[in-house]
Amino acid sequence: MNDIYNNLTSIYGEAPVKEPARQLYFIEKCRNIIENEEKRLGRKLKKCVCTFGCQMNAHDSEKIEGMLGEMGYIDSKGEEDADFIIYNTCCVRENAENKVYGNLGMLKHYKKTNPNLKIALCGCMMQQESVIKTVKEKYSYVDLVFGTHNLYKLPELLYNCLSTGESNIEILSAHGDIVEDLPSVRHFKYKASVNIMYGCDNFCSYCIVPYVRGRERSRRPEDIINEIKALVDDGVVEVSLLGQNVNSYGKGLDCDINFAKLLRMVNDIPGILRIRFMTSHPKDLSDELIYAMRDCDKVCPHIHLPFQAGNDNILKRMNRKYTKEQYIALTEKLKKEVPGIAITTDIMVGFPGEYDVEDTLDIIRRVRFAGAFTFIYSKRTGTPAAVMEDQVDPDIVKKNFNSVLETLNPIIYEINKEKIGKTYKAMAEGVSDHDPELLTGRLEDNTLIHFKGSKESIGKITDVKITDCKTFYVLGEEI
Ligand code: SF4
Repeated sequence: MNDIYNNLTSIYGEAPVKEPARQLYFIEKCRNIIENEEKRLGRKLKKCVCTFGCQMNAHDSEKIEGMLGEMGYIDSKGEEDADFIIYNTCCVRENAENKVYGNLGMLKHYKKTNPNLKIALCGCMMQQESVIKTVKEKYSYVDLVFGTHNLYKLPELLYNCLSTGESNIEILSAHGDIVEDLPSVRHFKYKASVNIMYGCDNFCSYCIVPYVRGRERSRRPEDIINEIKALVDDGVVEVSLLGQNVNSYGKGLDCDINFAKLLRMVNDIPGILRIRFMTSHPKDLSDELIYAMRDCDKVCPHIHLPFQAGNDNILKRMNRKYTKEQYIALTEKLKKEVPGIAITTDIMVGFPGEYDVEDTLDIIRRVRFAGAFTFIYSKRTGTPAAVMEDQVDPDIVKKNFNSVLETLNPIIYEINKEKIGKTYKAMAEGVSDHDPELLTGRLEDNTLIHFKGSKESIGKITDVKITDCKTFYVLGEEI
């Protein structure tokens, strides 16, 4: 970061046209305003970043926190004592949206007690016209609104807001260039997420993501590699490569690259010990990628491979572009080439027309998933599935959802139980939130572990013996 700042000649002249110099310029401008405000109030200004949704959003929030931190904001204890509150929203399910609206209602009261408070909204929800209309009509006290395509412009938009005192809404309908090298924070010293691509071209018929995150676009491999090398210099040993569909990485770039090749390049970076990635779409999982997973010693033996539904007719209506047997064959190939691989998945229950889940249960039994995110279908306005006529009765959906859990959870437990008595490598990530006597970490296959061990092992990969298990984690001790 310092190099970038050193290259800035002045923050008092005209704003640079090029990014990221332009946003770094506005960070400095915001910092001036914030410092003056701190002098007036006799205290530091505080920020509260609230994140909804997926790992991509969590990673976007690290960038938001990084930019706000550079401006001088420090962390608040919660929303009650913050001077700047930002909701990074998700629109994949209706209840996440309702939660945002519910919380926004409460923030109005905080504005009364702290007239300096600025409220901002960003993320996927804001890319929907109906949401912007609601925000304007019902939540006019919100100061700043922006979307997924202009997150990098937070400094400029916030500066306009702070310097004029006026609210500012800027939503772009299409993405521009990918802006590199803006500040970011990491919540773990030893592991980091790295975006390798943005957007999605798959248009699964239930999913709103392609409409709010835009078309697929990949970062240049040299930018990704340089970012990871800088992370290694900063003490990171584990990276998670992120994208809505990492398996189609590289399409549209003017160089000879795909995700398998990128994995091999990351594997060659000295200092990296573990490489993870998500999410993979089954239709794009190539043999070349499976072989890269097999060959690259740092790529963890774990894949998150959402199947969503087992019935071929439902899969077709979901526009998933694979059949049940093709999916099972893929998992068998993965198990053959990458021994010990853990396969986790997403399962959706209650898609229009899905009155029973027999095929879904069949996949669960045959693949034996090590974990799964299970969801009830949520109707998203603007998607093809929302206007399908055969929406399923909620009682039937609930019954089917329970059948899925009753089949899935004992298998996950069995897989964990098979680990008891064996020794594995665990990354010790920190002290357990629930028991200060234990450390929390992840095995190579991504199994969550709580274990007795030395605090000196935090941030390191250490040998652990598994002593017991529950459905969603194992217990162990360092040896
Ligand atoms: S692959 Fe399908 S479910 Fe995943 S983000 Fe793209 S459209 Fe949505």
